[in-house]
Amino acid sequence: MVVESIRKSAYTCSEYVPGKSTDQVREAYGLDRVVKLGSNENSYGPFPGTIEAMAKEITRLNIYPEKNYVKLKDLLGEMYGVNADWVGLGHGAGNVLDVLAKTFLEEGDEVIVPEKTYGLYSEISKVMGATVVTTPMKNEIHIDLDAVKAAITDKTKLIYICNPNNPTSVLEDKGELTELIKGLPKNTWLILDEAYAEFSNPEDLPDAIKLMQEDYNLIRVRTFSKYYGLAGGRIGYCVAKPDVTDMYNTVSEPFNSNRIGLAGAVALLENCKEEAKFYADKMNDDRAMMTSKMRAIGLEVVESGTNFIFFKTPYDAGEIGELLLRKGVIVRPCGGWSYPNHIRVSIGNTEENMEFIAKLGEVLDDLEK
Ligand SMILES: *Cc1c(COP(=O)(O)O)cnc(C)c1O
Repeated sequence: MVVESIRKSAYTCSEYVPGKSTDQVREAYGLDRVVKLGSNENSYGPFPGTIEAMAKEITRLNIYPEKNYVKLKDLLGEMYGVNADWVGLGHGAGNVLDVLAKTFLEEGDEVIVPEKTYGLYSEISKVMGATVVTTPMKNEIHIDLDAVKAAITDKTKLIYICNPNNPTSVLEDKGELTELIKGLPKNTWLILDEAYAEFSNPEDLPDAIKLMQEDYNLIRVRTFSKYYGLAGGRIGYCVAKPDVTDMYNTVSEPFNSNRIGLAGAVALLENCKEEAKFYADKMNDDRAMMTSKMRAIGLEVVESGTNFIFFKTPYDAGEIGELLLRKGVIVRPCGGWSYPNHIRVSIGNTEENMEFIAKLGEVLDDLEK
């Protein structure tokens, strides 16, 4: 039933559908062991080097986090070669994106969202009263940057680009993306969601910091949830010119990250960069191994720049997802993005990955019979 007092725009939004949890699946299918590869989490996290710092922080939970989170902002600023005031924090990149929408969007503004990408962009924009302009994909899995450019009008306030893209796993061409950013009109900003960028070759990514230093309308969004294995710690951040981060901080709630997550993120950047890299390398090796095994059984596998694999099967993806669930493997069928035959599977630890490959083989064999 519609509650008259609730913002009308809220009724145009859809609720986020998270991947299934291990407990749900264990219970529903009477399984002992469940492998969760549906939400792109990092199976190696939280890294040992962060746990002590986070455990210690529990004893301080009666105290609000320090308002400006100087330590983490300093470390991130150092990492990117900018001042700490270029960094805005939030509880997860999801929250960062939401605060950016709140900071920028007014009733009647337009935002551009590629057709097959992270679902949150449309929802946070619609609730602000903005009109979502959807642009088509190119060759099924790529964001069509020409179409994005062509969709810009004098009402376009924000453009959301996820690079590499979720769920399709691909990177867009660095030169074309840079050109799009350089060609933006004065009042149009591009939000570059790089939630998975650490799994790609840095040379393939646009030089976001340089572009911002050159005064182009760009905001980088990243997270500790994927590469750094801290999804439950809820720490994400944006990097932008201080004119933007100042207002971001004003609009955001005052204490927009929690002490334990902050302690974990600081420990990661201070002590665990090599550990994070070690596990990411392992995942990238497994990604190559899985890709070739899956191709060997005839599946169409997209070359991924992320910690997940996007692939096409000859069957209905929802059905394969269901059959895998019965065998204790959670994946993400992509019918919701209108990819009826595609599945997104996260790269877990090697044991989980091998289990996925084995179970997928069984499911496909059964379907063939
Ligand atoms: C996972 C993800 C995020 C958000 O992650 P948080 O856990 O909120 O930091 C943002 N964008 C994309 C594309 C993602 O896949």
